[in-house]
Amino acid sequence: MAQRFTARAVVVGDRRGSVVPDAVVDVEDGEIRWVGPASEAPEPGDAEVVELPGILTPGLLNAHSHAGMVLFRGQGEGLPLDRWLREVMWPREARLTPEDVEVAMTAASAEMLGNGVTTSVEMYFHPERIAAAVGRTGARAVIATPLLPLPGLPPFDEQLRAAVELAAGAPTDGSVEYGIGPHAAYTVPLPVLRDAAKAARDRGLLLHLHVAETATEGSELLALNGLSVPALLAAHDVLGGRVLAAHCVHMDDGDLELWREYDVAVAHCPASNAKLASGIAPLRAMLDRGIRVGMGTDGPASNDALDLFGDLRLAAQLARLVARSATALTAAEAFWLATGAAAEAIGRPDLGMLEAGRRADLVHVDTRTLAFEPVGEPTDLLAHLVWSGAGQHVRDVWVGGRRVVHDGVSTTVDTHELRADVAARAARLATG
Ligand SMILES: [Zn+2]
Repeated sequence: MAQRFTARAVVVGDRRGSVVPDAVVDVEDGEIRWVGPASEAPEPGDAEVVELPGILTPGLLNAHSHAGMVLFRGQGEGLPLDRWLREVMWPREARLTPEDVEVAMTAASAEMLGNGVTTSVEMYFHPERIAAAVGRTGARAVIATPLLPLPGLPPFDEQLRAAVELAAGAPTDGSVEYGIGPHAAYTVPLPVLRDAAKAARDRGLLLHLHVAETATEGSELLALNGLSVPALLAAHDVLGGRVLAAHCVHMDDGDLELWREYDVAVAHCPASNAKLASGIAPLRAMLDRGIRVGMGTDGPASNDALDLFGDLRLAAQLARLVARSATALTAAEAFWLATGAAAEAIGRPDLGMLEAGRRADLVHVDTRTLAFEPVGEPTDLLAHLVWSGAGQHVRDVWVGGRRVVHDGVSTTVDTHELRADVAARAARLATG
């Protein structure tokens, strides 16, 4: 099926911040075939024409999420991290059923699509239920099956074997992909991390873990082993291949150098790091070293929004504040971190930018609102997206050429029903 999209402008999602005014995007069989100014467009043939008054952007990519935690959104507000985990999160998670995870992920996925996020990297329990959920909403997901030392879960070697088996049976249409998600170096023993990394490397799977999120996590491992977390991971053969490390807040120059050397990608989650007072990751230093970085929300119990527009804006604000320089991160780079750069970070060059050959994951942002005035140059539209845009401005979303959000409403799931279901399940989980 051929489709032609016409828009006020296309924001490509590259590092330079390319904006094509009065643009055309041609799509066939879910793939982008042509992008450029309407004046140079080829004949449309019998393509279905979709005329859009606003901006077309690539579908945003959320590089780190535990979206099923929408069930715990807002819970334990104001508690310090250790009490928040021990008294609020863990008791609730111990009561989670597979059905809870599927409903929560369906709701979170619908919410993300409504905010223009078409792909998310998930790390949470019952990965096959996460896949079923995005199958319902029409989103894409890269699901890192968690490896965790929790009561009720089998030993690590069995968890790893199950994760590898699940990955082998994934669909081949690019909708769902499984990776391996050993939680972190402070929760998973180093030999398990090494085995998980080897299994992921041998099969080209994403290895996704938390690294250097808090200062204490690093200092305890340093005292035990005499090495920083990144150096410890390098020494135990965990790095190399397709590794995506979430947070990377407490990193010195030597750690960053290791990331560059092993081409480790980073999921940058400034809103979660701010809410939990973990610190500010050295984003500019990472980009200057050529380290791949993508924006992440982290779980909606520690953000709590699933709106990447807020995260990319905060990333730019913090990078500028830290450097005390308004040139420290451009608006173009901020938007790229949630699109083209995020696709590179998670190892999915088929996503993240509006250019021929990539999948047709498209977001229509309505600019007929005061937040998008005035516009002098076309690049002002990109600046407005970053500095005054939000998920609420997203009107329509296509994933692989299929419209999954139409005029702000999901075409695939009933969000009113999901609201009631999430509320009922959250209440049950809170009281046991
Ligand atoms: Zn996380």
